[in-house]
Amino acid sequence: MQKPIYRRIVLKISGEALAGERGFGINQDTLNSIADQIKEIHDLGVEIAIVVGGGNIWRGRNSDQMDRATADYMGMLATVINALALQDALENRDVQTRVQTAIEMKEIAEPYIRRRAIRHLEKGRVVIFAAGTGNPFFSTDTTAALRAAEIEAEVILLAKKVDGVYDSDPVKNPNAQKFESLEYIDVLNRGLGVMDSTATSLCMDNKIPIIVFGINEPGNIKKVIFGENIGTFVKG
Ligand code: UDP
Repeated sequence: MQKPIYRRIVLKISGEALAGERGFGINQDTLNSIADQIKEIHDLGVEIAIVVGGGNIWRGRNSDQMDRATADYMGMLATVINALALQDALENRDVQTRVQTAIEMKEIAEPYIRRRAIRHLEKGRVVIFAAGTGNPFFSTDTTAALRAAEIEAEVILLAKKVDGVYDSDPVKNPNAQKFESLEYIDVLNRGLGVMDSTATSLCMDNKIPIIVFGINEPGNIKKVIFGENIGTFVKG
């Protein structure tokens, strides 16, 4: 039987990936399909920590008429909404989960405590990290890099609507070429839209590989954890 090549992963799910065709909010069918995929790899014994974005609801950097820090706090709250939706979908599939948030809201989630998060993972619970890093001016990609370093994850699976990293926007340019692999430094130098530069640098400094792939295709997470080359592999 095929075995997963990773023991502990951080799965970063962008808010957009939860939105479905409408492009905003949460699409229940999309959410269900993502939860099915997560359950599939959870059943294989992979330790899964999820960092969820909020762009399907609110993005701080897009609101130029608002105080940036306030807009960013709104974005972090958006990630909590997505985290609870994911938790619900996973628990409906009998996957035990814990949401840990970087901004304390003790009525609905645990605060982020590194050692506790690791313990949950060891016990087979999926940990969902909400509220980003808890700091404005950061992104959930940076959160994924930070949490991956903290919990010693072997890889970041960067789940997106698009199926990898391209040399130009594949939605606008039909001739855009997909990269099979890249080095962090190329991502930084070429300004490729994989991750923001803070997140990319953090991964580079801590030698955490990133696999960018499309999550809206059922079965893709499983392919990635079995080592299939379906997206773009970013490393040093
Ligand atoms: N955010 C923040 N600090 C963080 C993480 C997120 O301020 O550590 C805010 C920021 O406004 C961001 C929003 O939360 O735009 C949603 O996160 P992100 O844009 O990373 O979500 P995604 O693009 O993955 O859906």
